[in-house]
Amino acid sequence: MIDDHAHPFNLAGGPLDPAALSLDIGTEPGAEDRRRSLGPGRLFQELLTVRLAEYLGCEPAEVPQARARASAEWEPYVGGLFRNAAITGIVMDPAWPPGAAENLERYAELAGCLVHPILRLEPIVDRLIDEGAGVAEIVDAVGRAMGEAASRGWVGFKTILAYRTGLAVNPDVTRQEAETSLRSDVPVRRRGKACRDLVLREALAMAADIGLPFQIHTGMGDSEIRLGESNPLQLEELLHSPAGAAGRIVLIHGSYPWTDELAYLAAARPNVWADLSLCNIFSPLTTANRLLRLVDLAPTSRILLATDGSQEPELFWFAAVVLRDAWEQARSTLAAAGARASWLDEVEVAIFEGNARTLYGL
Ligand SMILES: [Zn+2]
Repeated sequence: MIDDHAHPFNLAGGPLDPAALSLDIGTEPGAEDRRRSLGPGRLFQELLTVRLAEYLGCEPAEVPQARARASAEWEPYVGGLFRNAAITGIVMDPAWPPGAAENLERYAELAGCLVHPILRLEPIVDRLIDEGAGVAEIVDAVGRAMGEAASRGWVGFKTILAYRTGLAVNPDVTRQEAETSLRSDVPVRRRGKACRDLVLREALAMAADIGLPFQIHTGMGDSEIRLGESNPLQLEELLHSPAGAAGRIVLIHGSYPWTDELAYLAAARPNVWADLSLCNIFSPLTTANRLLRLVDLAPTSRILLATDGSQEPELFWFAAVVLRDAWEQARSTLAAAGARASWLDEVEVAIFEGNARTLYGL
């Protein structure tokens, strides 16, 4: 499969700490103890542990140490996981951790497949807002970076506006409103809603001119997000505007929990793609149901599958394995409903690989 949305992973092995792989990323005193005590009671950790034990040939209780031994030779270990998961390409947002974009070749070597980077806008926007820049300067800097990324062969763009001022973007925002929004004392990540709306409008128009797709974070994310501000329906005004209708937009993470809303947007809007990722890690058992609901309504040429893997390569592996299982379940339901095997074969190739190849020009 082409993993159409993922992040960098660790460049060295060691013992695996599944409790640290959490949507709860709090750093206050006691946060680590909380994750450690809640971890074993999460279905994600249970299934990851059991499946990894099977893969490593050990008992579930032995996974952390067996993994430490197996990962002493990091490159073959990581390559084995990606091969086993049948991941043949990664569309990667390398904005985190800092400096990761310098290591793109290393990620490709380790994973044993091509890595296609995309550019996230917020590191540029946040830095300039923090430095007191004006709207024109921010729009220029973002435009320049997008042009440079495209000329380096990067395959798309991405915004995590849901983590900042939310997805209720006003497509008619004025320069004056944008400037005014920057004059505020709230923390940078919550500052400048009108400016951020304007930057996204301009960036979408530019992506359409360049001809590269644009990923928009929707739905669940780590504990920094206001989930209520990440409902994809909040994007409707933008999607009905000239800039929002111009280019190809990918709404990522299955918009969890708004899967039906996502399916509707992919079905009704001329330029929206639906990516199912992240929730396959943290809500693995509902993945088959979500995939079925996407296939039930959205054109299957608009559906993309991904891992949203980060940190540990096992997350990519686990998310991909969950997707395979989910598709097998969805497939048998679709076959029982009367869909022909030839149609299902075509859909399978499209959602796991073909659609991403076409969309990102891979
Ligand atoms: Zn992500």
